[in-house]
Amino acid sequence: MQSPLPVEHDFSLLKFNTFGIDVVAKAYLSVTDPAMLPQVRLDSRLAALPRLILGGGSNLVLTRDFPGLVLHMTNKGIDVVGRTGHTVSVRAAAGEPWHGLVQWTLAHGFGGLENLSLIPGSVGASPIQNIGAYGVEAGSLIESVRYYDFDTDAVITLDRAGCRFGYRDSVFKHHLRQRAVIIDVTFGLPVVWQAQVQYAELQQELRKMQQDIQQDMPQNTPQKSSLPPASATITPARISEAIVAIRSRKLPDPARIGNAGSFFKNPLVSAAHRQRLLAQWPGLICFAQADGSYKLAAGWLIDQCGWKGQSMGAAGVYDKQALVLINRGHATGTDILRLANAIQEDVARRFGVTLEPEPIIV
Ligand SMILES: Cc1cc2nc3c(=O)[nH]c(=O)nc-3n(C[C@H](O)[C@H](O)[C@H](O)COP(=O)(O)OP(=O)(O)OC[C@H]3O[C@@H](n4cnc5c(N)ncnc54)[C@H](O)[C@@H]3O)c2cc1C
Repeated sequence: MQSPLPVEHDFSLLKFNTFGIDVVAKAYLSVTDPAMLPQVRLDSRLAALPRLILGGGSNLVLTRDFPGLVLHMTNKGIDVVGRTGHTVSVRAAAGEPWHGLVQWTLAHGFGGLENLSLIPGSVGASPIQNIGAYGVEAGSLIESVRYYDFDTDAVITLDRAGCRFGYRDSVFKHHLRQRAVIIDVTFGLPVVWQAQVQYAELQQELRKMQQDIQQDMPQNTPQKSSLPPASATITPARISEAIVAIRSRKLPDPARIGNAGSFFKNPLVSAAHRQRLLAQWPGLICFAQADGSYKLAAGWLIDQCGWKGQSMGAAGVYDKQALVLINRGHATGTDILRLANAIQEDVARRFGVTLEPEPIIV
């Protein structure tokens, strides 16, 4: 006979979402072992409740008390599960912190995830919106995702193609939403590593790090003149260090200022739309896409509307990065959404562009 599930009632989610929004869940279960999930399904009272699957709570806006069951994925474990001539397969449990996984791979000498350093949240959420930063998306390194399907009571493994990764998108945001609980994710890390340093900001940081090393060396040391060029000293660990430095400068630390990172996706526009905008806004920041469309920098659009550093009640726009909405203290989810709506309206009016929120609104 299985032991009863340790469900807690009227559970505060204040410490479980990085926006720091104070709401209560009717029921809460820390899922330390995926074997608990079929048990939830068998319990008619729990199975009847609406479900919220929770990782690190870093991509959520909680707008009200949650009238259902929060399944908080807290299972742990990271292992090498296979090797070929091309890749090392590393499987990590959903409840592992994302940055902890990045550090684990670097400590074991495996490159590939370093550009995704310091993204908050859990491994289990990484496929949901196909997390990405500095030119790399998790989906490009994911071999497979294992999930528990609440509808069919089956554990299913999806390969990369089955996950249908897109820009901040995957199958888990569509027909598998609410029904798939990701248990673990397997990453295929390259045996022959190549640095992904196409972002100018990253190149600059790496150059600065190299100069700092040279300056710290005593004058006239034989090593100083024979130091290898900066490109030869770029390692996965160095890139991770550079990205941690950039992100720590640019983004608010959720432990001090409530936020969910970028609040809006970068919008895509047609070539004709971009041309019209460029005529009026020569400084427009945009990136050509393979399909002929252009991705606009949402932060730049918001900044042009004068929102950077502004507030509406207790919700605000971060003064160093207009794409980040923040909780200035005791903001509710509704306060955050009111500000987000005002920004969306302004950007639509001025640029004819619709901004789509990145976090999940609950
Ligand atoms: C300061 C800051 C910086 C950020 N920078 C980036 C960035 O550079 N790039 C980027 O892509 N994102 C970024 N984010 C957003 C966020 O960190 C990621 O989206 C992250 O993957 C969310 O993980 P989480 O565990 O906190 O998910 P949660 O917020 O807990 O959940 C997010 C969604 O995933 C679902 N979910 C979570 N775990 C599971 C699971 N095991 N099975 C099924 N569904 C699940 C939830 O139901 C919810 O719908 C940033 C956030 C912050 C606060």
